[in-house]
Amino acid sequence: MRLDRFICKSTHYNRSDATALINKGVVVVNGDVTTNEAKQVHESNCITLEGQILTPRPSRYIMIHKPLDMICSNVDEGYPSIFRLIDVDRVYDLHIAGRLDTDTTGLVLVTDDGRWSYNIITPKKRCEKVYRVGLRDPIAADVAARFQEGVQLQGEASLTRPAKLEILTSKEVLLTITEGKFHQVKRMFAAVGNRVVSLHRQKIGEINLDVTIGQWRYLTADEIMYFK
Ligand code: URA
Repeated sequence: MRLDRFICKSTHYNRSDATALINKGVVVVNGDVTTNEAKQVHESNCITLEGQILTPRPSRYIMIHKPLDMICSNVDEGYPSIFRLIDVDRVYDLHIAGRLDTDTTGLVLVTDDGRWSYNIITPKKRCEKVYRVGLRDPIAADVAARFQEGVQLQGEASLTRPAKLEILTSKEVLLTITEGKFHQVKRMFAAVGNRVVSLHRQKIGEINLDVTIGQWRYLTADEIMYFK
């Protein structure tokens, strides 16, 4: 991680305080004074600030059951931020590993570990996300095959990746996708002439949503390991 981030993770200082301290020449990395706030460092390095050895706080990994009409953003923007639901220190250090729309409910993962969230978000890792979808019209017989082949979304250069459709009732399905294009699920159903009327994310990778609406919990060590 960057040196300025290491200092934030080890102290009460924010990013601009950390930069100022580094520029002042009071930060030593493995015996050498460094004034480069962007220097890449590792948790195993010996880093001191004004002579004190710094030890980063452990990263945090949290699931939230997002209700309707809350926004996946660090700040309120027309709707209250989902971070209002959690009561932890330095909430502003956390970020969202895959947003949901304001009218979507379900599993949201938040963390302060950027490498971990990258493993969830990047299409390269093909992390599966499972959505329970309510539809306006009965599901047509060919949709499972079309989603398996990939559909063309407006404005996208390539087809969607193969997606798995499981039919629960004529107007309720489970959809598993391995990418996260903007409004992807709604656009996929629009591409086959249907319309999403309710959307709920119930699983990301092997992590199942198991807290009630509006509640949160820390992930277990096993859950964290899935994306390490
Ligand atoms: N796809 C959507 O269309 N909306 C979401 O919130 C998540 C996936």
